[in-house]
Amino acid sequence: MLKLKKFFRLVVLSLISILFLVACNSNDEGKSSEKSTGDGGLAAIKERDKITFGVKFDTKLFGLKNPSTGEVEGFDIDIAKQLAKEIFGDENKIELVEVTSKTRIPLLNKGDIDAIIATMTITEERRKEVDFTEVYFEAGQSLLVKKGSAIKSIDDLTKDTTVLAVKGSTSTDNIRKAAPDAQVLEFENYAEAFTALKAGKGDTLTTDNSILLGMASEDDSFELVGGTFTDEPYGIAVKKGNTEFLDALNKALETLKSNGEFDKIYNKWFDK
Ligand code: GLU
Repeated sequence: MLKLKKFFRLVVLSLISILFLVACNSNDEGKSSEKSTGDGGLAAIKERDKITFGVKFDTKLFGLKNPSTGEVEGFDIDIAKQLAKEIFGDENKIELVEVTSKTRIPLLNKGDIDAIIATMTITEERRKEVDFTEVYFEAGQSLLVKKGSAIKSIDDLTKDTTVLAVKGSTSTDNIRKAAPDAQVLEFENYAEAFTALKAGKGDTLTTDNSILLGMASEDDSFELVGGTFTDEPYGIAVKKGNTEFLDALNKALETLKSNGEFDKIYNKWFDK
């Protein structure tokens, strides 16, 4: 009987030790993954010695991967480089990770990226999830159509119109409000949406005029019509409460605006 008691005590003690070891181990895993992705704070970024920016890879003029060089190029990319130059004294201290309109906030909040600089409009809704810098670009939503299209403005969209847009963008919400009768077809990214427009899968593609300009410059059988029907002020987003990093980005942006660097980049992409 005594032996049996001893045996049970031994089993219970071993079980407790195993549980303890498992708990310690999972804690360690938590810590190490936190370290590898970073909390997006300025201290962690400085320790890593580079900023990981979420950028578009398929949006001409803002962030487009050049297939022949493998480099991502555009206004957002040049601004990101200059921000790194201001913060680290070296424009190469950045890593670029591809985001889409739909994936950018989840990737930021997961810790895969430190900041989003990807044609992103500052909205009150998004402010609930992320913090934004000051405005660094002013766009407005418009329509892209095949030249000669009967659509000349937002007023021409009817229940028979198919409008192409991208998931997770303000454009999809805005178009549903501005043209509630129109059919909206949503795509994962702008490359897919533009391919669909070229293939005749819709009558018009809607998003910011600045992005549509990039598409029209790629294929001159398309044009923007009707001007803009929303305001889309772009901001750089960081994780909510990441004030130190946000302040550093705002300070860097201010410097770029006052030392002429910002205008130089703007003119390079938009004022040729
Ligand atoms: N600026 C708009 C937005 O933030 C449209 C462009 C985009 O999808 O990134 O949703």
